[in-house]
Amino acid sequence: MKNHWKLLLGLGLGIVAGTFAHSYQDIGWLQTMNQNLIFPVGQVFLRLLFMIVVPMVFSALVLGVYDLASNQGVGKVAGMTLFYTIIASTASVIIGIGLVNSVRPGDGFNVDRSVFETAKANVDTISANAGNAKSFAQAMVEVIPKNPLDAAVRALDGEMLALMFCALFFGFAFHLYRKGREGDHPLLIMGIFDEIFQASLKIVEVAMKLAPYAVFAIVFQTAFKFGLSIFESLIYFAATVVVGLLIQQFVVYSILLKVFAKRNPWDFFRKCQDVYLYAFSTSSSNATLPKSIEVAETKLGLTPSISRFVLTVGATANQNGTALFEGVTVLFLAQVFQVDLSMGQQLQVVLMCIIAGIGTAGVPGGSLPLIMIIMNSVGIPAEGIALILGVDRFLDMCRTTLNVSGDLVIAALVDKKPS
Ligand code: ASP
Repeated sequence: MKNHWKLLLGLGLGIVAGTFAHSYQDIGWLQTMNQNLIFPVGQVFLRLLFMIVVPMVFSALVLGVYDLASNQGVGKVAGMTLFYTIIASTASVIIGIGLVNSVRPGDGFNVDRSVFETAKANVDTISANAGNAKSFAQAMVEVIPKNPLDAAVRALDGEMLALMFCALFFGFAFHLYRKGREGDHPLLIMGIFDEIFQASLKIVEVAMKLAPYAVFAIVFQTAFKFGLSIFESLIYFAATVVVGLLIQQFVVYSILLKVFAKRNPWDFFRKCQDVYLYAFSTSSSNATLPKSIEVAETKLGLTPSISRFVLTVGATANQNGTALFEGVTVLFLAQVFQVDLSMGQQLQVVLMCIIAGIGTAGVPGGSLPLIMIIMNSVGIPAEGIALILGVDRFLDMCRTTLNVSGDLVIAALVDKKPS
């Protein structure tokens, strides 16, 4: 059976079995089985992927920048990546805000106070994270890490941009050092980084063998915990987010691919389907990064130095799905709490969502603290986030898929090499 069919089967069975088991979640043996058998399978897979994120991001970026600087010039690729990232993020936030203003899923929503009580612990943790938020100037300065090892240690807790900055700078510095010494032997360290990168890809291959079972396990867990009933009250909100994501994926990306990369969108999407399944199951751009890099090189035929650079930077800095979700959520909660946002405030939300998409950690639930910051800034009660926590995991799966898809689209746009 082809890999994507296996993954799809794992996904489908996970949803069906998890939803079914949800009705019997008080049964002891089911809980034991879930804790001791199903949970570990998903975790082993995720941990294998997270384990290679730091070495892979670092080696891919050093190599990517070094190669680019020595050949095409890194400035042009970085500039184009930034340009397309802003275009794509702006389009997705505008779609989200347009939809939430026309559907108005929050009007007449009955706020069930008990939700706030149940979700209190979660909300406290998220708001503690949001409380650590830095000012804009501070955030810009701290992109330069004082200690790269510390940035590496905390890379999955929001320090990824600092680690990336360090790698980018080192890659460029190696290029500067090498310039003028072309006659010398090739830089030894580039060979070492390349071997680290290749070994990371091998680890991905091993992890992939577990993927169909892991996908089943992760999705089962989610469905087992939440069931489908959670959707009832939030169906319009969830539907608004999903429709927005679909418009961005099938309309905006298709146009960008067709017009700027001269690629057939359907063919492109078909080749990326394994990546979509991974992103959907893991809810993490970082965990999906190794798979995206592999698909970009093997199936889409993108230039490795360009795709490694764009995809690695994009896993953290280009999150169109997250930006859209943040916009819809903030305005939905404004409607629920009957906070009337002026045109200026809505524009502020749009801008903050675009920036938040760049700063969101590519891990499950990475966007929640940022949503609280945006809500605070326009005067919406931040604990309102409790209302959407139940459906967040499902929407996280969907928005992460768009996040990763957007990275691949931008890599193709920057590479501009039709398949
Ligand atoms: N889970 C998302 C990602 O990894 C981030 C988020 O929106 O929470 O891309």
